[in-house]
Amino acid sequence: MAAVLLEGKVIAESLKAKIKAEVESLKAKTGRVPKLVALQIGENSSSVVYVKAQERVAQALGIGYELKVMPGTISQTGAQDLVKEMNKDDSVTAIILQLPVPKGIDAKRLINLISPLKDAEGMHPENLGRIISGQQRIAPCTAMAVMELLESTKVNLYGKEAVVVGHSEIVGKPLALMLLNKFATTTVCHIATGERGVLPEHVKRAEILIAAVGKAGIIKGDWIKDKAIVIDVGINKIDDKIVGDVEFDGASQKASYITPVPGGVGPLTTTILMRNAVELFKDSCK
Ligand code: NAP
Repeated sequence: MAAVLLEGKVIAESLKAKIKAEVESLKAKTGRVPKLVALQIGENSSSVVYVKAQERVAQALGIGYELKVMPGTISQTGAQDLVKEMNKDDSVTAIILQLPVPKGIDAKRLINLISPLKDAEGMHPENLGRIISGQQRIAPCTAMAVMELLESTKVNLYGKEAVVVGHSEIVGKPLALMLLNKFATTTVCHIATGERGVLPEHVKRAEILIAAVGKAGIIKGDWIKDKAIVIDVGINKIDDKIVGDVEFDGASQKASYITPVPGGVGPLTTTILMRNAVELFKDSCK
């Protein structure tokens, strides 16, 4: 393998040390610590894994954490009432809505209702809009995790050809804006790019490639430009094995840096969620 592995866990550990020290200092100054409330609707196996990880990391960092599980049968209004209650509760400084939510619940309406001042995931339109206007404060955790990984390579993004594959609101779109804010020449590919058959030609000129599609091996190893930095956000389950969107074996022969899946972006996102919670708390103390 020619590429250097970009392991999120290593970066997460150093971020955690900084966050923990910051929480201790905030506690000494204010007598309080941030409190993150996770709202879950119904039981969902993937949510269970995430909330356990959130609770473990929050505890390790000295951040308060509470999981509130609503019944899967709750109405939209009932769920909205809980969000409103959490917005009003001064002891709650950060809120996350666990996704996915059951059919019949409009997650977007719930996210829009979370106070932007308590929006730990950075998904409220106000916080997303701040990225566009160059006033980024709290931003979606996965997109921020990708930026941390890029930063760890010390590469200067200025003028680089960056290609983001996937344009979801949670990953691809905010990430493209963050890259643009760093003056990377940014191309965003999506379903129509794939359908038109021109995905390979865009990927082939990427000096920075971010894959966030959710289709195993959609990016072929031989499309990767020599010395490219490859960040694979994709998580795909194939026969009990987790793989990314990029064909790792071929890509790692050509890239200068590459994230493993699992072990790349994933381990960083929960830590960034906690960092967001601390930033929100700091703002609430001003
Ligand atoms: P998503 O909402 O399903 O978005 C996938 C994107 O890929 C969409 O923009 C879609 O375009 C695009 N796409 C689909 N087929 C394509 C093709 N053939 N060529 C080019 N683009 C194509 O998924 P997401 O939430 O962004 O997540 C993406 C992946 O990242 C998933 O595997 C997810 O599990 C993973 N993920 C990982 C983490 C982590 O912490 N590591 C966090 C979040 C997500 P259209 O919308 O136009 O169809």
